Amino acid sequence: MTCIFCQIISGEAPAEIVFRDEQVTAFADAHPAASVHLLIVPNRHIASLNDLAAEDELLAGHLLAVARRLAAEQSLVDGGYRLVINTGAGSGQTVPHLHLHLLGGGKMRTHLG
Ligand code: AMP
Ligand code: ZN
Repeated sequence: MTCIFCQIISGEAPAEIVFRDEQVTAFADAHPAASVHLLIVPNRHIASLNDLAAEDELLAGHLLAVARRLAAEQSLVDGGYRLVINTGAGSGQTVPHLHLHLLGGGKMRTHLG
């Protein structure tokens, strides 16, 4: 499997990991689009939100809970933050391993994008 996020999760590829548990890993985006830009990913390879199964609902909730916790740790709660899940090529998804972008630490230019 040559998925770059799977390689980061397994330790084969470097990343600035900020959180890890049995289900989820979070690390700094290599090309940050905001002062704080973290990626929160399931440890199991799931290509996109389209591939999330009914039995993955607890995992989906856990991804959100970890995002919320990291937003607090990164002092983003007062200023606000954004979660983005690009899904499919037309959305700009470039890495085919489900990931939440956590963006914050400055005023967002638009309410989307
Ligand atoms: P997306 O366009 O939603 O698929 O987002 C993929 C994100 O992964 C982009 O913001 C990239 O900067 C980031 N990215 C790609 N490769 C790496 C890597 N090796 N380490 C950290 N972030 C990465
Ligand atoms: Zn993967």
